[in-house]
Amino acid sequence: MVVEPEHDEFLEPPPALIEVKDAAAGARDPVLMQATRILAETKAPRYTSYPTAPHFTAAVGPEIYANWLAALAPAATLSLYLHVPFCRELCRYCGCYTKAVRQREPVARYAALLRREIELVAERAASRRVTRIHWGGGTPSILGPEELAALDALLTATFDRSGLVEHAIELDPRALDAPLVAALRAIGVNRASLGVQDVSPHVQEAIGRPQPAERVEAAIGLLRNAGIDALNLDLMYGLPKQTLADIRRNVEFVGRVRPERISLFGYAHVPWFKPHQRLIDAAALPGAAERLEQAESARRALVALGYRPIGLDHFARPDDELALAAARGRLHRNFQGYTTDDAEALLGFGASAIGRLPQGYVQNSHDLHAYGRAIRAGALATVKGFALGEDDRVRGAAIERLMCDFKVDLDAVAGGRADELRAEFEERLDTVLGSDRNEMVRVDGNRIEVTEGARAFVRLIATAFDRYLTAGGRHSVAV
Ligand code: SF4
Repeated sequence: MVVEPEHDEFLEPPPALIEVKDAAAGARDPVLMQATRILAETKAPRYTSYPTAPHFTAAVGPEIYANWLAALAPAATLSLYLHVPFCRELCRYCGCYTKAVRQREPVARYAALLRREIELVAERAASRRVTRIHWGGGTPSILGPEELAALDALLTATFDRSGLVEHAIELDPRALDAPLVAALRAIGVNRASLGVQDVSPHVQEAIGRPQPAERVEAAIGLLRNAGIDALNLDLMYGLPKQTLADIRRNVEFVGRVRPERISLFGYAHVPWFKPHQRLIDAAALPGAAERLEQAESARRALVALGYRPIGLDHFARPDDELALAAARGRLHRNFQGYTTDDAEALLGFGASAIGRLPQGYVQNSHDLHAYGRAIRAGALATVKGFALGEDDRVRGAAIERLMCDFKVDLDAVAGGRADELRAEFEERLDTVLGSDRNEMVRVDGNRIEVTEGARAFVRLIATAFDRYLTAGGRHSVAV
């Protein structure tokens, strides 16, 4: 139930850097500069991976994935991600890879494919130690108690779960009832993420997701009574008809139910990529400056409630492990956003799922038919990926630290290349930020830090490390 378009794919065609460059070269109007920067920031990659998914290519296919799996050290720790691309109906704002289904049959067929895919992966990487499991979508609970139990039993038979620390699932509060919660408890789910977005009826109507706040509170009560009390709420700003008063109501709701974590995403209106978003009235969307005000207002109010801001868009109670990891500089970033997950490999199951192995990234086919054909034929469903080179690892580590900590020590992540990388970063930063650069980024030797006031622009700043972004801001491979 990730609410922003997945995998940065909406970035085609982004006007990002070129607009900032034009503004910097042209009028020196600070308001124009700021507005342009806000626009550019919303178009910059979310950097849930580096390189980002649009750079994955068919050069990495099933054979390479099979080799990478077979090369996993016997003691390697694994994180498992299972993607279920189905929902009862589509919310208009949704940026996930999912489709609406009314019948049981496609879901049951898909569950059978997931089981077969687990067996295929197990032929190469069985018995490895799993530390985390994450069910994402779509609405993974649409599988229902029996399919969830069957898949979970297969995971137990396949992998070593003795070191499992987190078993998480994304949930739609409207689809939660006592039997489902009991089933989640029975398979050991200990963390749940609930899609809330906005509690105001007029915003819910504008996004096609009617969801009374009492219903969400009841879902939270059911989960907590079952002992599933590590809860995350997804909230959004930048939604149609949303105002600062709505943002305040959302934070009041948070104050009432006190989840452990909150994700606060900006709505990305990308109807060319997600056609169902055409149902959203673009004229009712807040402008760039309003969006920034909404994000800031939510941030301040959540901090006033006692939450720690984590990275760009997460908040956590001070005793939550995400907050503790952030304080220790041990936060990570993956396709689910900010995480404490430090497993050596992430194995993705299901259509469109992405995996990360020590050698690089792999992604399954988005196309349900192609995914099904491959799995039924006994082949892995990998259609693209990226084999990481040394330069990618260094830049990826620098971007991850910037995104997580708002600072990076290049000597620590780039070793002998630190000076060269810092010089290149500074040069590109001039293009990205223009004359405000020194107010936004401090450079001390090879230590780089985003200033407090510029944190909202960290994605844009991180592009200065991205060798796959051209000066025009489009995603294309640098020569
Ligand atoms: S419930 Fe709505 S927001 Fe969540 S994945 Fe389904 S369509 Fe998207």
